[in-house]
Amino acid sequence: MKYCCECGGRVEARSATQGVGERYVCTACGRSYFASPRLAAACLVDIDGRILLTRRNTRPGYGLWNLPGGFIETSEPASRGAVRETLEEVGLEVEILRPYALFQIPAENVVQVVYLARHLGGTPRPGPESMEVGLFDETSLPWGDLALTTTREALRRYFSDSEAGEFGFLFAEIVRF
Ligand SMILES: [Zn+2]
Repeated sequence: MKYCCECGGRVEARSATQGVGERYVCTACGRSYFASPRLAAACLVDIDGRILLTRRNTRPGYGLWNLPGGFIETSEPASRGAVRETLEEVGLEVEILRPYALFQIPAENVVQVVYLARHLGGTPRPGPESMEVGLFDETSLPWGDLALTTTREALRRYFSDSEAGEFGFLFAEIVRF
């Protein structure tokens, strides 16, 4: 950004606390603008032991499989955003059960939350950002064609928790999205 939204003054980038990251400060009124991480949310929907995935038809990750989800809109609760994205991308109405994983991806300035969600209604069908939807168990899942490291990590943990019959909470810092 170049100019302050409040007073129109010139804005300059300054090092944030202890040199971590940057923030933008107005040279006229002193207002700070934070370039905080963006929040993304996804749903892990298990329908009779199979997980719902969507195959992206947009970049990045064109042609690769992903959990339904996306970036949260301004002032939108993360759980509501995950439900909204799931309806948009795969046509399913879901109910959030609980948060299951939280990923920090500092290199991309993104934080992603993955919720366990329950299928309420609707039949899976591809939305505008999806070329295909599918339901996969651990064996049939396209492990080599997943769009995001976080999807792979969440699914790996989910299947291992399912086997153990106990679901924990996964928190991880991811180097590459
Ligand atoms: Zn200003």
